[in-house]
Amino acid sequence: MRTRRHRPRLGQHFLADRVLARRIAELALEEPSEFYVEVGPGLGALTEHLVPRVPRILLLEIDPSLVRALRDRYGSMPHVEVREADASEFDWKSSTASVSSVTVVGNLPYRVGTRIVTDVLGQVDKLRTAVFMLQREVAERLVAEPGSRDYGSLSVLARLRHDLRIALRVRPGAFRPPPKVHSAVVVARRLSRPRVEVPDVAAFEGLVRALFRGRRKQLRNVASSIWQDAEAVLRRAGIDPSRRAETLSLEEFARLAHLGRHARAARS
Ligand code: SAM
Repeated sequence: MRTRRHRPRLGQHFLADRVLARRIAELALEEPSEFYVEVGPGLGALTEHLVPRVPRILLLEIDPSLVRALRDRYGSMPHVEVREADASEFDWKSSTASVSSVTVVGNLPYRVGTRIVTDVLGQVDKLRTAVFMLQREVAERLVAEPGSRDYGSLSVLARLRHDLRIALRVRPGAFRPPPKVHSAVVVARRLSRPRVEVPDVAAFEGLVRALFRGRRKQLRNVASSIWQDAEAVLRRAGIDPSRRAETLSLEEFARLAHLGRHARAARS
């Protein structure tokens, strides 16, 4: 597609390295799915490698002028749908409910990247693979291990149901115009079952987020705003109350979720 003025507010940094674009598309195609969604196809750097090789693909783009150009190029292909949409407000659950396997891929607009990753990993029930180019810091948080500086609620929640890895690190010069930050491509593969059993995924998410709100505080202090007998809940889960949320493993969060269900909630 022809070059055009970019809109920085929409995170429009277009991939100019065709070899890299092909490698990212290959990561998304490694395990075939019935249905593909590309977030923010822009000028089509990834799209051109995906469209000839997938059974069905939905292109979600927010910028109307790019949507027009994508429709000119792909509108006549029955297996391609171009939709003008805000991917950070998209109803992922119902839009992917009728298919048996889904791959989501995108060089994401960084301003809404975390939101889109959280929604895709949390709401697409039949997700097989997600391949996201993200700001490097967000990518590091997604794949972080307990005890590391980057470990947070995003890492715990992603890890519950996915294998995650950074597949590529990308320099600003690979984009036109170059962004101010470095980037990385994360591949998330859905596990056949969650790594640990949790009583209720939504409640588990709420608990993990609440405990990380005080990531530098001792757990006894953070948890006292969740349970009346917080210290006892922590001890019953085999967790020293002087530890911090950033040191807890997924299994320890899951134990707290189970035991916390039977504990009295803190008075607000
Ligand atoms: N995929 C292209 C590439 O690799 O060159 C473009 C990537 S560019 C970093 C991000 C793209 O996402 C732009 O085309 C931008 O218009 C689009 N975009 C920004 N915010 C969006 C949103 N909320 N929903 C859907 N697309 C969005």
